[in-house]
Amino acid sequence: MRRKLAAGNWKMNGRYADLTQIEALCAAHDGAEADLLICPPYTLVAAAAALCADHALNIGGQDCHPEAAGAHTGDVSAEMLQDAGASAVILGHSERRADHAETNERIHDKARAAYQAGLLAIICVGESLAEREAHSTLEIIGAQLSASIPDAATGENTVVAYEPCWAIGTGLTATPDQIGEVHDFIRARLEDRFGDRVGQSVRLLYGGSVKPENAAEIFAVSNVDGALVGGASLKTNDFSPIIRALEAEANPS
Ligand code: PEP
Repeated sequence: MRRKLAAGNWKMNGRYADLTQIEALCAAHDGAEADLLICPPYTLVAAAAALCADHALNIGGQDCHPEAAGAHTGDVSAEMLQDAGASAVILGHSERRADHAETNERIHDKARAAYQAGLLAIICVGESLAEREAHSTLEIIGAQLSASIPDAATGENTVVAYEPCWAIGTGLTATPDQIGEVHDFIRARLEDRFGDRVGQSVRLLYGGSVKPENAAEIFAVSNVDGALVGGASLKTNDFSPIIRALEAEANPS
């Protein structure tokens, strides 16, 4: 059984005052029937992690450098994130692939650094609208999986997030059929490469305009083990219903 995961990506949003959202999440979801993660900007990682120390909510980073330390102005290493209290890191988000020209190979090296530092690597894959319209979605996702996931991946150190670029921050959501097709494909690829045990243990998240209104429908899709949520993770009032929908899927009564 894969434990469900609700992960929030705050992107370049959040100031100290917004730590009240973290406190509210902690208060509302201790004992949650799913793993919970918020990835705030670097500036808030240590403070957020301190607030969550005695709670179920985990804190992660949004990127890391492949090396542990050195002359890389403006970068942060996986070890620094771990030192600040993070337990996970998002890697290869489409905004970083686009804004920072990140390649699959670079993401692979970052994932290895995350493993080294004991962080859970959430490796993002996803096609552009042009790639979907050209019917090359599965080919693109397959290439991203092969080149960006290290051989040392396991269910304990790796999560894969399928995030169609055209659905991120646009209000457009992939249909359950589209999500199911890609998630089933990712699962099969992981089983082929890593064997059934590891392939079945890696959690697969969907990301792209997940909201309280569509969460239950998405979580019911096969091989969806949770969500990577951007905009709707910024406010507890939006993220909490998504967490509850995931818990309901994990533990139907
Ligand atoms: C994301 O940033 O990973 C994301 C899925 O954003 P949104 O939920 O806002 O589409």
